[in-house]
Amino acid sequence: MLAVLKEHPAPGVSVKEVPEPKPKEGEVLVKVKYASICGTDIGIYDWIPWAAAHIKPPTIIGHELVGEVLEVNAGQGSPSTSSGSIRPGDLVSSETHIFCGNCLTCKEGNLHVCENMKLFGIGRDGSFAEYATIPLKTTWKNDRRIPLEVMSIQEPFGNAVHAVTKAGVQGKRVLVVGLGPTGLCAGAVARFQGAHEIVGMNNSAYRRGLAEKTGWFDRVSSTSDFEDRDAYDVVLEMSGSRLGIQTAFDAVRPAGTIVAFGIPKDEISVDWGKYLINKEITILSVFGRKIWETWHTTNEMLVSGKLDFHNMITHRFPLKDFEEAMRVMKSGECGKVLLVP
Ligand SMILES: [Zn+2]
Ligand SMILES: [Zn+2]
Repeated sequence: MLAVLKEHPAPGVSVKEVPEPKPKEGEVLVKVKYASICGTDIGIYDWIPWAAAHIKPPTIIGHELVGEVLEVNAGQGSPSTSSGSIRPGDLVSSETHIFCGNCLTCKEGNLHVCENMKLFGIGRDGSFAEYATIPLKTTWKNDRRIPLEVMSIQEPFGNAVHAVTKAGVQGKRVLVVGLGPTGLCAGAVARFQGAHEIVGMNNSAYRRGLAEKTGWFDRVSSTSDFEDRDAYDVVLEMSGSRLGIQTAFDAVRPAGTIVAFGIPKDEISVDWGKYLINKEITILSVFGRKIWETWHTTNEMLVSGKLDFHNMITHRFPLKDFEEAMRVMKSGECGKVLLVP
């Protein structure tokens, strides 16, 4: 089968034929229908230090997908799954965070920050291939009312669901800093959950235009024409950029809330006294999705039919054209980019 392989510990990937995988005990085999490219995959492609520390080549990369189940190898004492039993023919997606289920953090119900976590498409083979195997315990059975393409973006959408839900935005003024796909999704979730006003911020005119097209934002802004200091009840920091984080601290109201989601490349310094003490703000950090609580919330929102993603999914490429898809991702002139094996 064709797959996108991190073959060597170096920048770039190989798009090549590899043997079809066989599901081990406790795994399902799926025919991948759509796989979507994540910002993380750019870092993996470029072989940033984080990628080098987490990936042992050769590994099939990619972690966002929808696939049709071909085979279930439940084995003995099959683990409980998201939605009861999974059968051939089901349309499934995958939670990226493969939890152990045994550590204290897991036992406390925080599976998404498991102490022994493995990552799908990073610490083991993932979704950029014609066929993939997924651990049963991280397989999510999709509701067939959700469009197939949208099923493939639930993992990043779920990030936004977890971030916005944790903050609580009903009736509040909300600023979303960073309008990549997850930032755009944060606008959608804030709209769905009844925010009073939603402003999006990005320094790329393309991304601001995309945000306007989705209809999820009341207005958009760039950091250079931004004047709303101390104005927002909730600031969702989705950019991970130094400038974005600084803007979040300036824009949040005294006693307001910042949600930290975007991951900076380097350490970030903060004026502790000016922001954390004098403004008495709350900072919430968000990593991935609550398993399976966030997926259920995501599902409810998607089956409601109230969210239209056609402006957000901007590109589709055959799997063989992965290099071209990656070029578009790196240009930043895109929303969500899908691969079709
Ligand atoms: Zn992702
Ligand atoms: Zn664990």
